[in-house]
Amino acid sequence: MPENNLVSSIFRKEVLAMSAYKVADASGLIKLDAMENPYSWPEDIKRSWLEMLKDCPLNRYPDPEAKQLVATLKHLYRIPSQFEVLLGNGSDEIIQLLLMALPSSACVLAPDPGFVMYKQLSLCLGLSYHGIPLLADSFDLDLPAMLAAIEKHRPSVIFLAYPNNPTGNLFSEASIREIIKAANGLVVIDEAYEPFADAGFIDSLGQYDNLLVMRTVSKLGLAGLRLGYIVGSPNIIEQLHKIRLPYNINCLTQISADFALSNKALFDQQTQNICAERTVVFNRLNALDGIAAYPSAANFILFKTPENRANEIFACIKQQGVLIKNLNAQGGLLADCLRVTVGKPEENAAFVDALTKSL
Ligand SMILES: *Cc1c(COP(=O)(O)O)cnc(C)c1O
Repeated sequence: MPENNLVSSIFRKEVLAMSAYKVADASGLIKLDAMENPYSWPEDIKRSWLEMLKDCPLNRYPDPEAKQLVATLKHLYRIPSQFEVLLGNGSDEIIQLLLMALPSSACVLAPDPGFVMYKQLSLCLGLSYHGIPLLADSFDLDLPAMLAAIEKHRPSVIFLAYPNNPTGNLFSEASIREIIKAANGLVVIDEAYEPFADAGFIDSLGQYDNLLVMRTVSKLGLAGLRLGYIVGSPNIIEQLHKIRLPYNINCLTQISADFALSNKALFDQQTQNICAERTVVFNRLNALDGIAAYPSAANFILFKTPENRANEIFACIKQQGVLIKNLNAQGGLLADCLRVTVGKPEENAAFVDALTKSL
């Protein structure tokens, strides 16, 4: 067809070869597929939030530097003053920005299985990408393999999600430090699940020139706002500021995030509830015949189902009104694996019940 010739003559081959990131339709289902915080806000907090939004000047462009919000983040997360912060429309946008700033010959490295966006965005931008398998038993970093890959490929950027998605574990801190020291390029510690982990690298920024720490408010409970941030040396962050769009954080997000973070005690309480429920779900999963759940420092749990039954079990759980994530198709260490987000107690109970019936 002429249209297809047109399309294939216009767009880059990397784009033509891609498939769009698909998000499952969750309407009518208990939604435990996307690591969202299941809790909303008390009415009085909602009212104060709406009161603040009332004065938001929608006719004006937002503050391009989101100064107030950056100040709040620096204060709240005790970001040392010698480091700079860049905000993104979700941390996904920050990954994209960072990769866009690399030369076309650059290569990107991350452990596998890992967060899909590292690979997806690298390939889309025509960069080469190497996924280095995690250890099969523990999902920890294969340090010798990582160090060999660093020497061989000399990656411009290494992404390490801490805790890792989709496995949920924290990699060995000693291995991470070895990797940062061995790397000739940047190392991004992606702390998307930091609220649930009680561990992180913000305090280590001063020790390494090539270290960046990236976070998001999505998993904390503000996924709808789309706000991520990355912290690092001013000379690195400055380069990213040059290529970001000037108004990438809209004024509703700036005001709402600042408001929400000023009520952080509320999120801390919700986070504690989620972590307590994580233990409940973990124990209930491991009590089931044929199910093996992996320890998690995040707000989700990866678990293995009996051989060759993951697709059928996933479908049966969905049939019963609960949406989780099927990772079986990714193969490798994720063969037979499903991932469930920790929700409210009654949602988790419905999930465990549905899983039990599907076995
Ligand atoms: C969810 C997730 C992100 C993306 O978060 P957004 O800020 O919502 O774009 C980044 N990294 C990891 C490891 C994640 O799981």
